[in-house]
This record gives sequence, structure tokens and C-alpha cells, in this order.
Amino acid sequence: MVEARVVATFLMSAITLLTVAGIVVFSFRRLRDTWRTRRDLRLREAGLCSHCGYDLREHGSDSARCPECGGINLNPAVYRQGEESPG
Ligand SMILES: [Zn+2]
Repeated sequence: MVEARVVATFLMSAITLLTVAGIVVFSFRRLRDTWRTRRDLRLREAGLCSHCGYDLREHGSDSARCPECGGINLNPAVYRQGEESPG
């Protein structure tokens, strides 16, 4: 009977630990994604490359590709010039 209680305690501890670990990982990812989204939005609004911070306004915004790093930018100015919008 003692062994069953030990096994039950171990299982409950393991479940609790896994639940807490899952919550921590999910919260961290959510926080990281929120931070990245806000950073990208801030850079895009300033006319900068969201990958390297290169000033896209000086180069002209005829392409969504950054001339400095080659990263694709979803710059609102680029979409305003083109016919397609990101949706
Ligand atoms: Zn760049």
C-alpha cells in the first residue's frame, strides 16, 4: 500500500512539474513573439529594415528586399506602391 502512495505522489509531482514547465515555456514564447512583433512594427513605421535596421527610405522603397542584408521587409510603404497588399 505504501508503494502505491509513493507512485501516486511521484506521478502527481511529475504532472505538476510538466504543467509548470509547459506554462513557463509557453509564456516565454508568447512574450518573445510579442516583443519581436512590436520591434518589427516600430522599425517598419520608421522606414527601417526589420532585420538589420538599414534605412530603407534613403535607398528608395521600390523593392521589399533590403539592399544591405537581403531580408524581405513588409514595409507598409512598399505595399502602398505595389498593387498587392499583405492581406
Ligand atoms: Zn536589412
